[in-house]
Amino acid sequence: MAAPMKGKLFSTDPAVTQEIVLLLTQHGVCARCVLRFLGMGDVGQFRASTEELMEKVKSLVGDQEDLLSSLPCPACLGILQVYLEEPFLNRIVEAVKSSDHQFQNFICSLTTPVCSLVREHAFLLLLREKFKALYEHRDLEDIASVKDVWKWRSGPILAAALDTPFELKSKFDIILHFTFEKSDRECTFLSYHSPDVFRKRKNRQKNYGDTYTRANVARVLSNMTDTYFKRNYSTPKSDEKNLCRCDEIKCVHDAVFIAGRYNKYSRTLSQTPWILDGGRKSQSSVEEEICGPLKKQFLYTEQRFSSSGREDVDVRMLGKGRPFVVEMENPRRVQFTPEVLREIQQEINKSTDVKVRDLQIVDKNDINRLKEGEIEKTKTYSALCWSREPLSRQQLDKLQDIKDLVIYQKTPIRVLHRRPLATRERVIYSMSAEKVDDLHFTLNLSTQAGTYIKEFVHGDFGRTTPNLSSLTGQECDILELDVQSVELDWPPSLENS
Ligand code: ZN
Repeated sequence: MAAPMKGKLFSTDPAVTQEIVLLLTQHGVCARCVLRFLGMGDVGQFRASTEELMEKVKSLVGDQEDLLSSLPCPACLGILQVYLEEPFLNRIVEAVKSSDHQFQNFICSLTTPVCSLVREHAFLLLLREKFKALYEHRDLEDIASVKDVWKWRSGPILAAALDTPFELKSKFDIILHFTFEKSDRECTFLSYHSPDVFRKRKNRQKNYGDTYTRANVARVLSNMTDTYFKRNYSTPKSDEKNLCRCDEIKCVHDAVFIAGRYNKYSRTLSQTPWILDGGRKSQSSVEEEICGPLKKQFLYTEQRFSSSGREDVDVRMLGKGRPFVVEMENPRRVQFTPEVLREIQQEINKSTDVKVRDLQIVDKNDINRLKEGEIEKTKTYSALCWSREPLSRQQLDKLQDIKDLVIYQKTPIRVLHRRPLATRERVIYSMSAEKVDDLHFTLNLSTQAGTYIKEFVHGDFGRTTPNLSSLTGQECDILELDVQSVELDWPPSLENS
């Protein structure tokens, strides 16, 4: 005789509980699902092994030996049976180990076949019919879900096997996708009842597999009368062909973000890979120079590179560099000491064209700082310029007196193919110029971010006004441009640390 069971059930009358157990087991419902439908609220009870649970359930019906124990259970499609046994849990452990992820704790995410909702609803209706008072006002929200029960039992077992805590929240997720071949077919009657709910979904997604989702199935079930349901769907029975499958165990780590500042010393290097009509237009890019060494260390799958503004291919990025951040998806290595990060930085800096500083792992919430105030920020530049006639020192010195000059820039011809046509107001905060030789001078500029410098110098056929040519009365052109600074105090400087 098993020890009496702890935990409250819907019914306090042992005779009623016994009847419920007999009704459910006659339909082949498994011990864990029986406990769920009985309203068991004690998590610990679900942690027991299948054999122990069967004993507990038997104790509820006076230790009847002939209780059915079918496979798979028609309510959970075997998820709380085969998929809670040692062989499958071992498969998970193997999958996690061979994924080779670094993680400190973990969660499990389960997706269960949508028709399991319909099946659970059917059992609830069966109970409502036989035990009206007890189940009349209860719905699926009131019973423990398949997912929760699965986790209550397997969480501690997996945690022990992986020697890592199982948590409610974690950056590392073990994803189990359960599928059941006949799921859609079992849901078909729902679309006869509410064609609009499912038709909309079908058109938008153009994907038949997604016609039935947990959300829309749950909605239709809650709007359906018990009579309609019972007329169109019979209480499921145990059938050996009805075991659901779990073909894939996927391990995913949350993205890790790494930030820093980069300098670019080349006039032939684009910021991102330059691909036109499927072919490469440049050997490398700032992004690739930085991400190559990162990928080798973090072992991630995809990267997303972003920066505070960008410079043209032929423009150098000097000074303290331009802030950037790389989002690294599903990394397999995530723990790095500051020393190792410095080594990665040194590895990147073997590049002749690109150097980085302040390389650091940052929080996802911090990366908005990168785009923040992109327009308000000040940027400084130096440009090597040419004039058709020599400019006198006085003419050049006069530029220094111009402060907070408002200019109007029509979208430059060279970017019209990717930017809408508009006239933008920008401010040149200050300027100064140094003579190089008769026809050449260096122009230093401090401007509002988003100012088109090349166009300010040559005027872009009058599309930027005023411009350097109109200010000096001489035709001017720009030969070389360098960004000297991008004023953004993020990410934090590491130079003194
Ligand atoms: Zn079950």
